[in-house]
Amino acid sequence: MAKVLIIGAGGVGSVVAHKLAKVPQVFTDIVLASRTKSKCDLIAKAVGANKIKTAQVDADDVQQLVELFGSVKPEIVINVALPYQDLTIMEACLEKGVHYLDTANYEPREVTKFEYKWQWAYHDRFKNAGLTAILGCGFDPGVTGVFTAFAARHHFDEIHTLDIVDCNAGDHGKPFATNFNPEINIREVTQKGKYWENGKWIETEPHAIHKPLTYPHIGPRESYLIYHEELESLVKHFPTLKRARFWMTFGQEYLTHLRVIQNIGMASIQPILYEGKEIVPLQFLKAVLPNPGELGEHYSGETSIGCRMRGMKNHKERTYYIYNNCKHQDAYKETGTQAVSYTTGVPAMIGAMMLITGQWKKPGVFNTEQFDPDPFMEQLNIHGLPWHELHDVDLELE
Ligand code: NDP
Repeated sequence: MAKVLIIGAGGVGSVVAHKLAKVPQVFTDIVLASRTKSKCDLIAKAVGANKIKTAQVDADDVQQLVELFGSVKPEIVINVALPYQDLTIMEACLEKGVHYLDTANYEPREVTKFEYKWQWAYHDRFKNAGLTAILGCGFDPGVTGVFTAFAARHHFDEIHTLDIVDCNAGDHGKPFATNFNPEINIREVTQKGKYWENGKWIETEPHAIHKPLTYPHIGPRESYLIYHEELESLVKHFPTLKRARFWMTFGQEYLTHLRVIQNIGMASIQPILYEGKEIVPLQFLKAVLPNPGELGEHYSGETSIGCRMRGMKNHKERTYYIYNNCKHQDAYKETGTQAVSYTTGVPAMIGAMMLITGQWKKPGVFNTEQFDPDPFMEQLNIHGLPWHELHDVDLELE
């Protein structure tokens, strides 16, 4: 039915490749391209049966992308490289008439600031070209937007509060490792906290607000309020929200390492001169930390990510909790990577499927909550991320 090009051969790219190859009736041809071609070749070999072709590209360079798109002729590009490449890939999509999907919003390299404004600015250009761009189609962002749209359609007349809760109760056996790209992850979790309340953003010191939350099959885990990119699009698209927050669990060991990393300057993104060569401390740190894509083999435990909501239905106050749990070992057996890569890669595949099959095809630039959630929710159950609902429960969050 369609030719698809994946850009990025990390943990998430590996899951996307494995998953696309399982749906040949939709994805007839698959090409995986990245900066380091040997990584693409390893993934193609793991998927097997010559199902995946590979290519080399520097996605910071629009001209290289345009040439690649010209030779591959994909219908859609799935961008699972880094957020720095979002705009160059979108530019090339416009030039060659290709649909676009990613899992993380654009960030400039030199400032830690993720905002949708840069990508939303492409809306009219994609619309006029008759092309669809789906932004943030991993789990969070991604499925969290679909869960919210599903709740708004089926369970509420108005949603008043939304708390996205993200727990990784896994153990990878390393003293310190990040679950996805270390540079992007550390930039994200060391930022100030921020949440939406009564029409404005409220900023907090990093990790200043925390409390234990109980996760299904896992139990209580200390959860920290952090800023996460989908809050920006969700408060825009669900204006009845009086409050929207994001919580993530961190272990004490992880936080101690993070504090030390920051205190000694290793989280800095300001270049320094080292023996005559300019290096960015955080990029150097990435080079010595474990590769998140290779944590899977010894990872035990599971993740639990969901949305807890409060609102009105038929003039009565209701609560609703929708979530998915994913076991690291199940993800590893199926795709050779851990659950964080898996829960990101599966929704990216489903989003591409929605677009190719016409269910999520509309010209312009959109976040996941702006599409019909129902067919996507069906596919989550089929492709390894089953979801569960709890009604009128204690959300543990006033
Ligand atoms: P990795 O660092 O493991 O992989 C990134 C890949 O992109 C690498 O293969 C890298 O190549 C490649 N790449 C980097 N720069 C370029 C470039 N200029 N041109 C071509 N390829 C490039 O990251 P992950 O797989 O862990 O994460 C991928 C994306 O998924 C990130 O954007 C991350 O933010 C996002 N994510 C989203 C989540 C969600 O739920 N929405 C959750 C987790 C992650 P090389 O190996 O040569 O460096």
